[in-house]
Amino acid sequence: MRKTDLLTLTPAELAAYITGLGEPAYRARQVLAWLWPKDAASFMAMTNLPLALRERLERQAVIGGLSVAAREKSADGTEKLLFMLPDGQTVETVILPYRIGDSACISTQVGCRMGCRFCASGLPGFVRNLTMGEIAAQVLYVRRHLRARGSQLRGMVLMGSGEPLDNWEATISFLEAVKDPQRLGLSLRHVTLSTSGLVPGIRQLAAYGWPLNLAVSLHAPNNEIRNQLMPINKKYPLEVLLPACDEYAQKTGRRITYEYILIDGLNDEQEHAEQCAHLLAGRLCHVNLIPYNTVAELSWQASPQQKIQSFKAALAAKGISVTVRRKMGADIAAACGQLRNNYCGEPRNEG
Ligand code: SF4
Repeated sequence: MRKTDLLTLTPAELAAYITGLGEPAYRARQVLAWLWPKDAASFMAMTNLPLALRERLERQAVIGGLSVAAREKSADGTEKLLFMLPDGQTVETVILPYRIGDSACISTQVGCRMGCRFCASGLPGFVRNLTMGEIAAQVLYVRRHLRARGSQLRGMVLMGSGEPLDNWEATISFLEAVKDPQRLGLSLRHVTLSTSGLVPGIRQLAAYGWPLNLAVSLHAPNNEIRNQLMPINKKYPLEVLLPACDEYAQKTGRRITYEYILIDGLNDEQEHAEQCAHLLAGRLCHVNLIPYNTVAELSWQASPQQKIQSFKAALAAKGISVTVRRKMGADIAAACGQLRNNYCGEPRNEG
């Protein structure tokens, strides 16, 4: 019998499930509190439930079903976890230390079908969507881990393996749980969803009007270069993508973060900076410049520091808010996809 993952259930569904076992309604409220605010790692830890109920839940239910298969910690405090899923697949989660508190970078799919050329997560191709419970379990594990050492989870980014908008239902159910005071109870202002640019998903998300931060992988100042880097651009080119992002900013009041990986000689020249500035001028946005990480099979190289700074200056000169992303966890290959690829015996890459 397949076990029911209680994290996938809404509070109403959980109440129906627990009362369906012949338990009173208040037991459902107790279980809900253990699952979410109290971060119980197991049913046995739910000490105010009768032992018979805990044993029954152990037999027929599960809490996310993830277990840690590998972990690495960087000198700068970045921690990378590789989770084993119930079917033996693996996904990565990264804990990012910031001065204002720790943040979790979580995955939404095993592999990815977007095929971005610079990304290690996409290399093995798409395997499957994560369930809502598998997404939530990553966050709950991180929060439990942080609480145990006296720190707090301040935010999260849906920026690990997978395209969140390509796993729409689980992603939306997860975001509902994040903002639900009975469950994670975290403002979506502290959450960032990163997308390669799936326009229908961006527009659907805009319609919710949530204060969720949206990060969009731009990585190029024109369609010609973006087509080389991101196959999705052939379906949703810049003239389709940018108006959808504007709609998102307008409906949510949140500025869009455009991610831009700088690759030497490909997209980092002054003319590219000027094109990029022209593209984004007047838009409610911020640009996050990301120094490229070398991928073993690709000949691309990181831009020299001086080019990164000139690119940044060219955007700033046009009044565009811009920063260069701080490199975190470089000594443990914290870039997306690496730990999983190494674990699976595939070549070491950086995405
Ligand atoms: S960058 Fe993101 S969307 Fe692109 S292949 Fe990697 S995981 Fe998928």
